[in-house]
Amino acid sequence: MPESRYSGSCHCGAVRYEVDIDLAGAIECNCSLCSKRGFIWSFTPADKFTLTDGAQATRTYKFNKHVIDHRFCETCGVEAYALGSMPDGSRVAAINVRCLDGVDLTQLQPRKVDGASL
Ligand SMILES: [Zn+2]
Repeated sequence: MPESRYSGSCHCGAVRYEVDIDLAGAIECNCSLCSKRGFIWSFTPADKFTLTDGAQATRTYKFNKHVIDHRFCETCGVEAYALGSMPDGSRVAAINVRCLDGVDLTQLQPRKVDGASL
């Protein structure tokens, strides 16, 4: 699956973004947060992610090693994206694929990641 441009948003629409991303790398993780929130994630370099609305509308949640900024909308509570760093220090955007417009989730087969063991 090639990289494509998508738009995404939280539920209420306060937080909106554009992103270039390849959804072939989508994952589902079983860590304590992902299992409760039901995320499907896909990742892309942070410079391919543009927050177009809602910079002041998000709050940040961190847990475990505090290396990922989980950004959720303070109005509707939906976490449409997160930001973090790869082991080499490069910035990465984690995109909640469920928040992207026009994605047929039945066509995705997210790889299972055992985040609970990390
Ligand atoms: Zn919202």
